[in-house]
Amino acid sequence: MRDYRLNDDDAAVLARFTKLCRDEIAPRAKETERAGVFPAQNYARLVESGYLGMGHDEAFGGSGVPSPALSVLMQERLGAACASTYLATGASCGLFGLPISFFGSAAQKDRYLRPLLAGKLIGAFGLTEPHAGSDVQAMKTTAVKDGAGYRLNGEKLWITNAPCCDAAVVFAKTDPSANWQGVSLFIVDKGMKGFSQGPPLDKLGFRGSPTGSLVFQDCYVEETRRVGDEGMGFIMAMQTLEYGRIGIAALSIGIAAAALDEGTRYVKERTAFGKPLSKFQDVAFKLSDIATDIELARTLTIRAAEDKQKDGEARTLASMAKLFASEMCVRATDTVMQVMGANGYSEEFPVARLARDARLCPIGEGASAIQRMLIARDLFGE
Ligand SMILES: Cc1cc2nc3c(=O)[nH]c(=O)nc-3n(C[C@H](O)[C@H](O)[C@H](O)COP(=O)(O)OP(=O)(O)OC[C@H]3O[C@@H](n4cnc5c(N)ncnc54)[C@H](O)[C@@H]3O)c2cc1C
Repeated sequence: MRDYRLNDDDAAVLARFTKLCRDEIAPRAKETERAGVFPAQNYARLVESGYLGMGHDEAFGGSGVPSPALSVLMQERLGAACASTYLATGASCGLFGLPISFFGSAAQKDRYLRPLLAGKLIGAFGLTEPHAGSDVQAMKTTAVKDGAGYRLNGEKLWITNAPCCDAAVVFAKTDPSANWQGVSLFIVDKGMKGFSQGPPLDKLGFRGSPTGSLVFQDCYVEETRRVGDEGMGFIMAMQTLEYGRIGIAALSIGIAAAALDEGTRYVKERTAFGKPLSKFQDVAFKLSDIATDIELARTLTIRAAEDKQKDGEARTLASMAKLFASEMCVRATDTVMQVMGANGYSEEFPVARLARDARLCPIGEGASAIQRMLIARDLFGE
């Protein structure tokens, strides 16, 4: 694989992180999926490696901002080792932590970022609702002003870490008549009166990353729990989701690369009609196409991460990276399963798990249709 011109320090960080992923996290991936609970052991190891603190201020326990290429390659390595661990930690330190890091008050950063980045707090990001996924503005959760705070009512669904989180950022309408300008962001804690966390949902993949609901029934939140100004929630969501899209692209590359590694190893060993499968041109070309797609996706994702770091926004490139990488990883896992025959379909090999996990990538953090819509808007100058 190319080195993406990492400097010596970054190359050393990546080598150490790759070793952790390969030697400790990947061997636990099957067990993590079977256990179906938040991967706490991996979370703790990711604190020590500096991964959890990536992108967060060192003053609050973060490990600073890595170069775009290093950040994408580290996310890719974790995604390849254990996609469930990637999603659970990404929802906590990324989707929950980043809006607090970027838009929170000093008191909010102190209270939430320190334990979060020390691996002592699990966070969640509550945007999606039972009737509002792609159409974020259709959200029904409200935060109605009440004295020195707000009353929250509504339900968030399909929220990563919802069943096990200690705190969550939650988007709610403070002005239902104002469309996107009427959305604000709040932090809620486990155990608050009127706030309940639903049980884990049964789902196809990412079984080691619990997903569930956050329910609010007249839940009182003080004004100090609002992140940033009233009406800024939608902008905060979109800013955060741009990181999320680049992250899902990196995760997708990791899943595809893990499938390709497994497939490559397998077809060199498995024989049919007197020769290794790798000697059949049809098999070799299929894997060559996946290898090419992975390089393309990686280059595009690193470019999006570079723009995000340099300009504060990656917009269309983030959508393109997420769209291409996520659809590519579904094709890649399916193709590897095919060239491995029955063994690809067996739980003895990791490809079945990788294919289950891959299927979320074109759905979560903005479905493919939404990415195409954003790309088209840019194309037509809308
Ligand atoms: C495992 C998992 C973890 C998740 N974690 C989180 C989380 O932590 N926090 C959170 O807030 N959400 C989370 N989600 C929710 C996820 O972000 C949504 O599922 C996603 O945004 C899609 O929304 P939806 O499922 O409501 O699909 P819908 O909005 O109902 O869309 C369904 C399909 O309709 C089509 N469609 C929709 N709109 C358009 C359009 N404008 N043009 C063309 N076609 C369209 C597309 O094909 C789309 O795939 C998670 C979901 C899963 C499965």
